[in-house]
Amino acid sequence: MTRPITATVHTDALRHNLGVMRVRAPGSRVMAMVKADGYGHGLETVVRALRDADGFGVASIDDAERIRALGLEQPVLVLSGFASVEELARLRSLAADSVVHHDAQLQMLEQAGGPPIRCWLKIDTGMHRLGFAPEAARQAHARLSAAGGVADDIVLMTHFASSDEFEAPQTRQQLEVFAEATAGLPGTRSLANSAAILGWPGSHADWVRPGGALYGMSVVAGKPAAAFGLRPAMDFATRLLAVNRIRRGERIGYGATWETPEDMPVGVAAVGYGDGYPRHAPSGTPVLVNGVPAQLVGRVSMDLATIDLRAQPDARPGDPVLLWGEGLPVETVAAAAGTIAYELTCSITRRVRFVER
Ligand SMILES: *Cc1c(COP(=O)(O)O)cnc(C)c1O
Repeated sequence: MTRPITATVHTDALRHNLGVMRVRAPGSRVMAMVKADGYGHGLETVVRALRDADGFGVASIDDAERIRALGLEQPVLVLSGFASVEELARLRSLAADSVVHHDAQLQMLEQAGGPPIRCWLKIDTGMHRLGFAPEAARQAHARLSAAGGVADDIVLMTHFASSDEFEAPQTRQQLEVFAEATAGLPGTRSLANSAAILGWPGSHADWVRPGGALYGMSVVAGKPAAAFGLRPAMDFATRLLAVNRIRRGERIGYGATWETPEDMPVGVAAVGYGDGYPRHAPSGTPVLVNGVPAQLVGRVSMDLATIDLRAQPDARPGDPVLLWGEGLPVETVAAAAGTIAYELTCSITRRVRFVER
């Protein structure tokens, strides 16, 4: 059997969402974040669709190479930069930009000259992941400026921890720390991820860095993506393989976790954790069968998942099952499964067929 499960990526939705970002941050250049294979949508598909973006952000040098192989010449920023002088040379040969977040990288830049590489100096304003402490930013900037083989336009950047919570005070604090740490330093600035683009206009500066919003995912706590005019870029869909009449009081699937409350039809869909659908999605997780809401019952297994079809007793093998996408936001499924939309799209496995529309 050919498995009927597909991830359809809507390139028009990607372009539409890029347009929404430009309207929201009209004075900023847009660096489209395409790390993790374009948030699981397929790096090449996403980059080709978003070729009008002003730059691309990736997490690995290999991804930068894949973007250059498409013939695109915009800035490509490698978010964690380089871990050796060999990697630094590779970034230079790709004309990629590098985040510089650590003293070890400054030392390599000071030792290994070469054609100028543009550096994004990352300042840790409170997230405490990557970056120089605010009080170390000035000295790091001076060392970068003095190093040979560093392009003149050093970009000053930081990343927010809680910009998805518009009411939380942390983003304002991070903005203040950044302003103080960089006051008077020359160069362009970049702070905003998707949520900050939507909710913190004071953070837009020279470059914005949207990720999730480009894919039409919810990026603001408690608000669907549609509330901001964003469109889902992926439909994850499969079909029913069987519809079985199961008697009342029987138990469904591994572990016998769900008991039929009455005689009822149970659909079996060709989707499982082997496709990247979350095994921890509990009974009650929503799907659409023939466009009509239905719910998972029992455990998700490797290749199959079972669905309560009492609302659709006439459903038949071959009928379409939408797992997430247009009409069923991925964030709704993520909430049911106790995770976030990003993890779901990033988890789709290689046996799923990707289709570009
Ligand atoms: C992933 C990432 C972004 C994009 O974040 P979203 O919340 O998906 O918009 C921006 N900046 C950095 C440094 C990132 O790692």
